[in-house]
Amino acid sequence: MATSKHDPFASPDRLRPLISTEEIQKRCRELGAQISADYRGSDLLLVSVLKGGFIFLADLVRHITIPMELDFMRVRSYGSRTESSGVVEITADLTGPVEGKRVLFVEDIVDTGLTMTYLMRNIATRHPVDVKVCSLLYKPERKLVDVPIAYLGFTIPNQFVVGYGLDYDEKYRNLPYIATMDDEPPG
Ligand code: 5GP
Repeated sequence: MATSKHDPFASPDRLRPLISTEEIQKRCRELGAQISADYRGSDLLLVSVLKGGFIFLADLVRHITIPMELDFMRVRSYGSRTESSGVVEITADLTGPVEGKRVLFVEDIVDTGLTMTYLMRNIATRHPVDVKVCSLLYKPERKLVDVPIAYLGFTIPNQFVVGYGLDYDEKYRNLPYIATMDDEPPG
């Protein structure tokens, strides 16, 4: 079988575990309970931002115990592989209206905050009751714009992370934990 330098099993030394599967699961349970209590009796629509948020969403919704709906958006952030430029294009939009609903974005990570700011503004023009954010990770040191994160999993240092849905060059999304990645070796 061919291996590449991005194969986590071919180069485990490049990955440093940061947040374990158990810690993530515990936080998903806590956040699910909190969201269930806060949104009881509301028309809740969870909006997942693909691709990075898919595993967090799948774990989180199983701890939400109130009726809710689910939809997806897909965005492309222009920039290099590891740096966002703030120019965001919606490449797949919601399948229905949000008018009269309480929208809760489920994101993998708020880094500069540019992507989430763009999406919140965009959804706000569609007349939801309100728009809030649930993010698994937040890197405060990288903040360029303030994003109010109503539900936060973990604050992390200014390091590039992979796993649990997050990629580097489309790889590593399948790691069951969050890891930091060493700088790419020369060559
Ligand atoms: P923003 O800088 O606009 O807040 O974040 C834009 C997007 O960049 C995030 O949704 C995420 O997909 C990606 N991103 C930001 N920081 C990281 C990181 O440390 N690791 C990975 N894999 N993606 C990141």
